[in-house]
Amino acid sequence: MKSSNFSYSRPTTLAEVFEIFDHYGDDALLLAGGQSLVPSLNMRLSNPSVLIDINRISELQGLIEEDGNLKIGALTRHYEVESSSIVEKHVPLLHMAMPYVAHTAIRSRGTFGGSLAFADAAAEIPAITLTCEAIIQVQSQQGKRQIAAIDFFQGLYSTDLQKGEIITSVLFPKNNFTHFVFKEFARRQGDYATVGIAIAANFERNAHPKLRIVYFGVSDRPIVDIQLAHDLFAQGFNTDSIHQLINRVGNDVDMTTDIYHDAQTKHHLLKVIVKRALLELLGKV
Ligand SMILES: Cc1cc2nc3c(=O)[nH]c(=O)nc-3n(C[C@H](O)[C@H](O)[C@H](O)COP(=O)(O)OP(=O)(O)OC[C@H]3O[C@@H](n4cnc5c(N)ncnc54)[C@H](O)[C@@H]3O)c2cc1C
Repeated sequence: MKSSNFSYSRPTTLAEVFEIFDHYGDDALLLAGGQSLVPSLNMRLSNPSVLIDINRISELQGLIEEDGNLKIGALTRHYEVESSSIVEKHVPLLHMAMPYVAHTAIRSRGTFGGSLAFADAAAEIPAITLTCEAIIQVQSQQGKRQIAAIDFFQGLYSTDLQKGEIITSVLFPKNNFTHFVFKEFARRQGDYATVGIAIAANFERNAHPKLRIVYFGVSDRPIVDIQLAHDLFAQGFNTDSIHQLINRVGNDVDMTTDIYHDAQTKHHLLKVIVKRALLELLGKV
């Protein structure tokens, strides 16, 4: 199938983007890497009047250190994040997850902002922003807004982005955590996760101990398991508490299904992967 007809514009500034939004409203769609949008156009799941190609907007580019954060521009391609030494140094969890995002060809075009806006519940990048307590920066004609990752993902392919807003960049606090684990089960290398887990922890002697456990691929959005982190600290973070608490993992998650796995299978796989991830974390502490 081929897409229906649409106009195409290629602005070089955000001001021009907002003008087009103003004129077309919901009929205008942003085009970044096109890896998710183009298939959806071709399947006629999206039928915009105009596509706004944002690839020439320099304000959306770049990966820099800024005020204690690592700032990743919305147009940064997946391969740039994957191969960046400052990502590896300051946000190691993101560095660990990037090779799991799709295939090399898709990583060469897909963008950081596009992945967040698309908000697939089984995608790695949204889960990592949640684990690392990243802030998503957005802009519209009315001004700028910062949204904590925890508030950004609102459901299946659904975010807090409002009409006329564009993601401009994402801020990752540097050195918030000391230990990291990333794991996922997928049918093939490069597929979306069947079930995944990302963990960031801070066990530094003088810091308040902190544990962020995030699951993805199991619900309509990535989710933080605050209760498990709390219980692990309350009972002592050791092999016994892990084995004991694992039976409760996922019991209060509204498990989704996918075309290959029912909710029961996903729940089982979640327990398996959580146990493996926590034991790995314990071995690193
Ligand atoms: C076969 C295949 C396998 C894949 N596997 C994985 C995987 O395993 N893990 C994974 O994480 N992803 C996977 N992806 C998705 C890939 O990472 C995409 O690159 C990503 O989801 C979308 O990024 P994009 O830049 O291509 O966005 P586009 O396709 O250009 O846009 C996607 C949506 O986001 C909107 N958008 C884009 N940029 C912005 C912005 N700056 N502000 C606001 N809205 C914006 C667009 O309007 C559109 O609605 C896969 C894709 C394919 C085709």
